[in-house]
Amino acid sequence: MVRSRAEAASPFQTASHDHGSCIEDALDRAAQLCAARGARLTELRRQVLQLVWRGHEAVGAYAVLEALRRSHPGAAPPTVYRALDFLIEHGLIHRIESLNAYVGCSRPERRHVSQFLICGKCGDAAELEDSAISGALLRRAGALGFAVEQQTIELRGLCPRCRPNARAK
Ligand SMILES: [Zn+2]
Ligand SMILES: [Zn+2]
Ligand SMILES: [Zn+2]
Repeated sequence: MVRSRAEAASPFQTASHDHGSCIEDALDRAAQLCAARGARLTELRRQVLQLVWRGHEAVGAYAVLEALRRSHPGAAPPTVYRALDFLIEHGLIHRIESLNAYVGCSRPERRHVSQFLICGKCGDAAELEDSAISGALLRRAGALGFAVEQQTIELRGLCPRCRPNARAK
């Protein structure tokens, strides 16, 4: 099936999205990236990454902890937070500030500033990586003498699948 450019560029999942291979890809990429950087993707870190990637909705640390305890009964919050910090540091996941939760990143190979479109119905947090938006804000802030340390842009709304009158896919 030939996809249009707009579709290919959409960060939203379509009905035909194969999440099984999506997770596999993410885990493979993480392993390659960590190997290339000499970082240790331990079994626990890998499991935490897999739990964050269980869907495209943002996942809270306690949900990760609860799921992790099935295989690591003794896991405590600091264990999860340390693993999440490692994954953030390597760009494998992003933190959604307004939800105090995490989503997997599908382009961890290079650093980027993202904007998130968060669906209020299904909870999917789609990642936009628009350097024109982040660049415009940096320039505006800089012109006002403001030194930006972090950009957090999170929009709430309804994704194409959840919009009541969305065309069937
Ligand atoms: Zn997926
Ligand atoms: Zn990303
Ligand atoms: Zn939705």
